[in-house]
Amino acid sequence: QWFGFKPVDPSKKASLVRDVFDSVASRYDLMNDLMSVGVHRLWKNDLIDWIAPRAGQRLLDVAGGTGDISFRFLERAPTASAALCDINEAMLRVGRDRAIDKGLLKGLDYIVGDAMALPLPDRSVDVCTIAFGLRNVTEIDKALAEMRRVLKPGGRFFCLEFSQVKVPGFDKFYDWYSFNILPHIGSKVAGDREAYQYLVESIRRFPPQDELAARMAAVGFEKVEYRNLSGGIAAIHRGWRL
Ligand code: SAM
Repeated sequence: QWFGFKPVDPSKKASLVRDVFDSVASRYDLMNDLMSVGVHRLWKNDLIDWIAPRAGQRLLDVAGGTGDISFRFLERAPTASAALCDINEAMLRVGRDRAIDKGLLKGLDYIVGDAMALPLPDRSVDVCTIAFGLRNVTEIDKALAEMRRVLKPGGRFFCLEFSQVKVPGFDKFYDWYSFNILPHIGSKVAGDREAYQYLVESIRRFPPQDELAARMAAVGFEKVEYRNLSGGIAAIHRGWRL
């Protein structure tokens, strides 16, 4: 049920996504807190717990936006390093300002780059993450293959993304919240209802847990596993490059 949303034309998706994040960059962190009532912070902590960062590791944080994953990674393993990669410079600029405020400049690089054509050599990072980014990418399988390519053998890929609610009854409430409340918050706080309608739609169109796991395996990830968060509102998928 699409509640009147028109499907996004794939040839226009990249420019739509760019416009969305250009327009929300300065309010992105506040919006995240309001829309998820702060729960995105817990999910990001769960992701970092599963990664268990270690000294000396190098992280590539794809679609890293304003830096939440890179910062948590570096806070857990201060001698590690992270590359915050995003296609949108406005988001990276907010990320750089936040890094300065947090005093987290050592070991952090910024890369403007597309998940579907990562500007990094093969086998160059220990851990690769994409948090709430994969659903914005035009060709998911291309991005998955790229993220595997840049991992060293023995490296791990983690995807944190909205997923399919698995708790009967709760899915109805979640639909109601998504289609009635979120776009209102979007128009009131960000002044951009369309941007938030796109976000709701992109969440609904993203492959559910088992399909994403199968697509990760299809590009060569091994030992693919996932964990549901908050009844499946989000999920973390993990795969190894062996
Ligand atoms: N990872 C951050 C977080 O969890 O808060 C930011 C997530 S934000 C919802 C999605 C990000 O994906 C945006 O910063 C956007 O610019 C970026 N993005 C969208 N398409 C991309 C692509 N093809 N390659 C790299 N980044 C992309």
